[in-house]
Amino acid sequence: MNLVSSAYSQALDVIAAVEPRVAEATRKELADQRASLKLIASENYASPAVLMTMGTWFSDKYAEGTIGHRFYAGCQNVDTVEELAAEHARELFGSEYAYVQPHSGIDANLTAYWSILAHRVEGPWLENAGVKNMNDLSEADWEKLRGELGNQRLLGMSLDAGGHLTHGFRPNISGKMFHQNQYGTDPETGLLDYDAVAAKVKEFKPLILVAGYSAYPRRVNFAKMREIADSVGATLMVDMAHFAGLVAGKVFTGDEDPVPHAHVVTSTSHKSLRGPRGGFILATEEYAPSVDRGCPMVLGGPLSHVMAAKAVAFAEARQDSFRTYAQQVADNAQSLAEGFKKRGARLVTDGTDNHIVLLDVSSFGLTGRQAESALLDSGIVTNRNSVPADPNGAWYTSGIRFGTPALTTRGFGHDEFDRVADLVVDVLTNTEPGTTKAGGPSKASYVLGDGVADKTHAAAAEMLAKHELYPGLDLV
Ligand code: PLP
Repeated sequence: MNLVSSAYSQALDVIAAVEPRVAEATRKELADQRASLKLIASENYASPAVLMTMGTWFSDKYAEGTIGHRFYAGCQNVDTVEELAAEHARELFGSEYAYVQPHSGIDANLTAYWSILAHRVEGPWLENAGVKNMNDLSEADWEKLRGELGNQRLLGMSLDAGGHLTHGFRPNISGKMFHQNQYGTDPETGLLDYDAVAAKVKEFKPLILVAGYSAYPRRVNFAKMREIADSVGATLMVDMAHFAGLVAGKVFTGDEDPVPHAHVVTSTSHKSLRGPRGGFILATEEYAPSVDRGCPMVLGGPLSHVMAAKAVAFAEARQDSFRTYAQQVADNAQSLAEGFKKRGARLVTDGTDNHIVLLDVSSFGLTGRQAESALLDSGIVTNRNSVPADPNGAWYTSGIRFGTPALTTRGFGHDEFDRVADLVVDVLTNTEPGTTKAGGPSKASYVLGDGVADKTHAAAAEMLAKHELYPGLDLV
């Protein structure tokens, strides 16, 4: 048995001695992940080194504060791993400063927002009032400052155009703490229209312009976005949570690399970047001091075990093999998109040039919810997603979002992704919308043709068997 197999087998025995059902679910999760075609664009498979780094006693240590400046004693080893993670991030992305404490992408965005507010609003405000610390403000002045902090303008991409909830969506805190507004995409092409964004920015005059997306299948010109932000003195924040792997792997360079153009870049570490679940922030020197105040301004104690795993993952992403992987992720998305198109399926923006393919399933007479369920029954794991101006709203939706990072990690290439397109189209062609209990049209129920699920499972199993997940990992 190899080292990883024996380490995990023994770890599961230790867990089983306390709560066998957790050990059992953990074993089953591996089996399930091995047995399905994972096409969720935000998921991946981290390496055993990354996974193992998360399972250590670093989890037990409190380390609020910053490197070398903690509110707790005994943080010398946390300092080591946090500095390593930050150093690898700076080198990997060529950024002036990196902050690796955010626990997730949402935490990174919230931290970035408050850091920008601290830098742009609070700092000058305190200076004007002639005080260094907000605790020295009178109650009346503090009320005024709170009013100003909470009433700044934020402009981000709308959810149905591919933006994220944290980019000013009303039900999210970002849509409540800011006076928010959103830009969309061209109704005809589904593409970002930079002139329209520029016009909206001129009219709305945001303090923060957010670029980045969760479901937009195209690259963004961040040099143009910076020009647009500069036209009104806005801070450009880019959320690269989804495509950080393509930036790290140098698939996105020049104007498509957000780091040289944005004031602040936020990200997750677990999507295309293939690290542990977590977030991080890159910033220019100018914004670094306020981002560095993330804990305790917004965040609680950093997850030291996850920061250690970020250091390992960023070190992996600095290897040449990661560049090959990232290019393959983008190439595979092309293969998947072409596979759909040649079989007559309709894609938002008519294609892709990143890792996402957004299929409009209304052409199959289905909602996203029905399509997602029929695919899951057939061993294909995806998620439903709104399409621009979606008539079915954000719950049922009309789209399915596909992503290539996970199966690329398993070694899938052009032929396999073409076959995946074939299987998906076959399932959707053989799925009929169902009816409600009262006999009316349903947006959720569906009827999958006889034998389709079994046939698809078998075809998927054949492909997956050739590309084992965690090769050599055998649990006993
Ligand atoms: N930002 C973007 C663009 C995302 O797509 C996501 C996750 O889907 C997030 C932020 C939030 O990340 P997390 O789930 O780690 O909080």
